[in-house]
Parts: sequence; structure tokens; C-alpha cells
Amino acid sequence: MMHWLCVLVQTPAHASLGSVLSYQSAAMLVPGTLVRVPLGRRETLGVVWDADAAGATGELDPGKIKQIAGILEGIAPLSQHWQQLLSFAAQYYQRSVGEVTLAALPPQLRDMSAAQVQRRLKRTAAPSACDHETLLATAPSLTAEQTQVVAQIQVHAGPFLLFGATGSGKTEVYLQCVQTLLEGDPQAQALVMVPEINLTPQLERRFRERFAPRYGAASVVSLHSGMTHPQRLQSWLAAHQGAARIVLGTRMAVFASMPRLQLIVVDEEHDPSYKSGEGARYSARDLAVYRGRLENAKVLLGSATPSLESWHHSRPAEDGGRYLRLHMPSRVGQVDQLPLVRRVDMNHQPRNAVFSVPLLEALRERIARGEQCMVFLNRRGYAPVLHCGDCDWKSVCPHCSAFRVFHKIDRTLRCHHCGFTERVPRACPACGNPDIAPLGRGTERLEEHLAELLCDVRRPHSVNAQCPEGEPVRIARIDADTTRLKGALESQLAAVHAGDVDVLVGTQMIAKGHDFRRITLVAAVNPDGALFSSDFRAPERLFGLLMQAAGRAGRDATLGANAEMWLQTFQPAHPLYAALKRHDYPAFAKQQLIERAQAGLPPFSAQALVRAEAKSQEVAQAFLEAARSAVTSEMAHWEDWAALVAQVTVYPAIPMGIARIANIERAQMLVESPSRTALQQFLNGWQSVLHATRRRPVGKGIIRWAVDVDPLAI
Ligand code: ADP
Ligand code: ZN
Ligand code: ZN
Repeated sequence: MMHWLCVLVQTPAHASLGSVLSYQSAAMLVPGTLVRVPLGRRETLGVVWDADAAGATGELDPGKIKQIAGILEGIAPLSQHWQQLLSFAAQYYQRSVGEVTLAALPPQLRDMSAAQVQRRLKRTAAPSACDHETLLATAPSLTAEQTQVVAQIQVHAGPFLLFGATGSGKTEVYLQCVQTLLEGDPQAQALVMVPEINLTPQLERRFRERFAPRYGAASVVSLHSGMTHPQRLQSWLAAHQGAARIVLGTRMAVFASMPRLQLIVVDEEHDPSYKSGEGARYSARDLAVYRGRLENAKVLLGSATPSLESWHHSRPAEDGGRYLRLHMPSRVGQVDQLPLVRRVDMNHQPRNAVFSVPLLEALRERIARGEQCMVFLNRRGYAPVLHCGDCDWKSVCPHCSAFRVFHKIDRTLRCHHCGFTERVPRACPACGNPDIAPLGRGTERLEEHLAELLCDVRRPHSVNAQCPEGEPVRIARIDADTTRLKGALESQLAAVHAGDVDVLVGTQMIAKGHDFRRITLVAAVNPDGALFSSDFRAPERLFGLLMQAAGRAGRDATLGANAEMWLQTFQPAHPLYAALKRHDYPAFAKQQLIERAQAGLPPFSAQALVRAEAKSQEVAQAFLEAARSAVTSEMAHWEDWAALVAQVTVYPAIPMGIARIANIERAQMLVESPSRTALQQFLNGWQSVLHATRRRPVGKGIIRWAVDVDPLAI
């Protein structure tokens, strides 16, 4: 007898063909089973799905239902919890469940036949030969603050927000919690998420050193997009089969199949890279919290500057808080605490000065003492614009509504949005004036300028035969441009750690996470821009970034006592900087939350964006407006719709901040509600109308459209 199955397959987003298809099978298969199914002329990977949850596909002609092609034997069916997680993610982020589910599986699995999978499994079953020798790293005895926090995590259910200063030993808390878990249960698994694994090789090393000697090298696996497809499959299988006890990964790891998952750690939980920017625009942090509740696993979010959402959720339970806030204010091993924050009032500095006089003086002093400095500017390239003073020509990108950035090293103008690159013209393309000049500055120019200013500075104790006056100061730059090649970042970081660099110049890339031991001075040369941004999250991001950057200074207790963070600003009295000076995140958060509450912004409301792309703004906006007007016209008679619409505001369509990229015009429309549930119900209903609008004449010129739930940038 034949059984009917609902099978999820990967179909292009918004394809008319649903992502749940019907097949027949001789064997009865449980939901979660991985199968190969015919689709058109191809054969593809499918996941047997719960018919109810997927929504039965309706009238079927049994004669036309194809048989599945095979079962991926040896891979246990995905758990029910896993299926629920994926169903929820698809529904919440307004995507098809097939798309989200298949994207959550290792890419290589999609292309392997049942026989290839068999061969692959045989190979992984053999114990890995390179049980390489890692020295057993013994755990330090915990500080009082750490002990207290770990005890709280043992006795409470969570979710927890670990609010700990940079260097307060949060990572050690994660390690302890994982260790307690693994010791107590021989099968338990832990998921540890980090924003960008390439930036935190140290974290990976710490986990390996701690656990590989005890549980074997195979017990710790990584999952991130920097891995090759075979590596990812291997990690995925190890997690799915339970051999991996610890999965370290980036946002994609939130979907790892871990049958014995009991603990989820989200380090730097405020980091925007937990939010996906394509496909299903999910937040891995938010899904981690959902998953924890679903699977009864503890969830531990950690940050020195939590997202305002998580901070708000961790207010006292009496006030409605749902997370337990745990606080570690002190840096490990230091009496004298966090770096001294100094604001330099640039209104009193020479006009156009890039480095103020006192900052330069401070840099010289540090170098002379053999300490390292970090100078931080969140803009790469030489200059953001090239400009002609005669006719006002600017280096606009012909394909985008943005300027092309001047990169001096290869004398190019590069668009950071579409990639369009040209050699720098010899003269102004508009009027022929040979005297075109860079406007503003990026890290490349900053590095060059600093080298000029410090050209007379010598490294201490460096007098030798070749350099009778001592070696010149060493300035290095780390940003997306210097680290394009594989391994470049690692070797540049190693040079900093080895003390081969005196001043490190860079973008936010160097502000995050690194445990630089000898940096004692961090300077932000021009942070003011974000104070006046139209994005309501800009101050939150700036504060987080500056706190992070400050956290790079004085991490070595012996040097930490006189660590400093310098801010050059035209707004020295700004409350954001005042809070930063006191390292007072709670005060900053309080003031921001008051403003957000008054303006009805998240976390006091829920938002979604609908974005559309077309050849012209008119077409993109017309599509959005048609879907918007349907809310009050054709949908008006829907049952219970009026009550729902009363709780939701759909704002008019507008061009996006950067309206055109690579000759495609982009428009967006904001949807907002004080109630997250109402917004969800509204979107669920509206989705079919958006699909229908796309098929109407008004949707004809639309290249792409998507919904972004809980968007990070508006
Ligand atoms: P965070 O993650 O909060 O920035 P880390 O866990 O990286 O902090 O700790 C900062 C530094 O202090 C690290 O070098 C770490 O090895 C060290 N450290 C953490 N906890 C302890 C402890 N209990 N005893 C001694 N050193 C510790
Ligand atoms: Zn000109
Ligand atoms: Zn461009």
C-alpha cells in the first residue's frame, strides 16, 4: 500500500508553486525524515513534514502524485522541536517553510544522492585520527561576581541577560556553564553563538582548549559561512548525531539540529550581525530565546552593552520583565576599573585638525612607554568623496545614489554598494580642472596622516646597527580592505599581539571582541555623525561600539591602571558621551528607553518593513501603495479584519535611505503596531494580498519584494 506524504522542498521565494508538495511512498515515514524526491526533471532534497502544520495541499489527483526517489538512510529524522522551530521561523518572518527549512540544512546535503550520503556517513563514523594534542586548560577559580552569576544560572530557568563589563569574565562564565552541563549529563549539548566567528578565533580556541582534551577533538565543532561545504556537513552531522557536544557558530547555527540541546549562549547579543539581511530576515538571538523555551534549554544572552530590547525584557519581573538580569560590573583582576574616558572639545582645536594636540601628545607618550594605541574611524578607504572645487563635480556612482569612495592605494574610485570601480580620473571629468581633491577621510587617509604626524617618533629600545637613532614608529591598519585575502586578518592580528605594531588604525572591525593585551589607549577621532542620524537605533549602536572600543584598552591588569579612551567631539556635553564617560550603560539605556516610549518606537512597538525593488521609484512605490490601499478596500470585509487594522499603522511608501543601488530603485513601507501579536496577525493576513498584488498589472515591473520583520535599520 502507498502512503501519502507532505514533503518540503526548496522553491524560489514567492514561487507560485508552494513549498509543500505531495508524494507517495511505499514506507510510512515520520515527519522530519530526509528524502530525495523528483521535482520537474531534477531530483532534490526534501523533508517529510507534518501534514497539518504544513497545510494540506488540497484536491489531488492520485494518478499524478509521484513517488519519492529515496530515503537518506542513516540520518535520523529531524526532531519535532526542530520542525516547530523552522515552522515558527517561517511564519514569523513571513517566508515559505520549505525555503527556510531547506536553507537551514547544510548545502552539500542538497546535492548528495542517498548512496553518496551513505558513503559519507561511513567515513565520519571512523574516529577522527587527528585527536590533536591540546593541552588541558584548567579553569581558573571564579571571581566572586562570576561565582554568584553561575549559581544564579544553575537555580533559575532563565532566559538570562548577563550584563557584564568588557573583561569582566563573561566568556569564563559561558565556559563554566557548559562544563557543568557536560559533566552532569553525558549526552547534553550546548550551542554557543558569536556574531562573527572570524573575528573571535580566541573564543574558539578557549572552548577547544577547555573541552577537547576532556571530551575529544570531535566534541567541539564550528558552524559558520566561512567553512567549506564538506566541513559544514561534517559539523552538522556531528551535531545532529550527538557526537558534537558543543557547537560554536554564527547566526546560522541557531538552526543546527541538536537532539540533546540544553544550553544556548548568545555572546554579544546586541550585535546586528545576528539579524540576517537576506532570505528569511531572521534574528538568531530572538530565535534562540524561542528555541530555548521550546526545547526547555537554558538561554544565556551576554553583553556589555545589551540591545535595548533585551535590556527592557530584563527589567524587574514585577514590572513585567521576562529575562533575569545578571550583573558583573568589575573587570577581572583589577582594582582600578575601566579606562578613563576623555572628551576633547574639537571646537577649541585648530580648524580642520584631524588629531587634536592633546591626543597626539598622548599617543607619543604611550609609544615612548612601549604601549600600544588604537585609533578608530568607522569609514574605510582614503576619502569618501572626490571633489572638484571649480565646478562642484563629485565622485557620484553612476549606478547608485551614493558617492564612490577614493582608494589611494590603487588609485581607484570604488562604489561600496555596487562594487563599480574605475581609475581615478586625471582631471575633473566635468570641467577638466586637474586639481580634484579628496573630501573627508577614511582609515587609509587617517593612517597616512598619522604616519606624517609621528614621523619623528622612534620605538623605545630599538637603537641598533641598522637604526642608530632607533626604529621608526610602526602604524598598521586593519579594515575590510586590508583583510580581503584569506588569513590576512589572522596574520595582522598576530602582529598586533606580538607587539610589532605601535598604533593600530581601523574600523569597527578592531573594536569588537579582541583581547589585545597591550593596548592602553583607544581613540575615536570622529564619532559625532551617529548623534544626528535619522536612524533611531544609531545612538544605541554608537554607544555600544564606543564601549566595545573602550573595552579594548587596558585589558592587561599590569597596564590597565592608566588605560584611556579618547573621544574627539564637537558635542562634548552630549548625554551619550556623558554616560559613556561614567561607563554608565544603565543611564544611557534609561534615557533612550524614555525617548523610545514617548515616540512609540521598539521595544514599545513592533515594526515590519515591506521593501520593493524595480527599475523606477514610481513602479516600486505603486506596488507598495496598491498593497497598502488593499488593507482598507478589498480586505475590509474580512472577518475580524477591522479590529486588527485598528491596531496597525501602514505608513506610505518612501524611497529607501540609499534609493538606488546598481541601477535598481528601492522603496519601502513601514508597518507598525503597539502589539506584536496584532502585527503578526496582520502580516499573516496581508501576505496573500502582497502576493496577489505582485501578480496584478501594478506588480509587473517589480524585480523583488520582501518583508523584514523587526528590521534593524529603517
Ligand atoms: P569578557 O568575555 O567579559 O570580555 P573574559 O572572559 O574574556 O571577559 O575575561 C577577561 C580576561 O580575564 C581573560 O583573559 C580571561 O582569561 C581572564 N579571566 C576570566 N575569568 C577569570 C578568573 N576567574 N580568574 C582569572 N582570570 C580570569
Ligand atoms: Zn570640475
Ligand atoms: Zn554603485
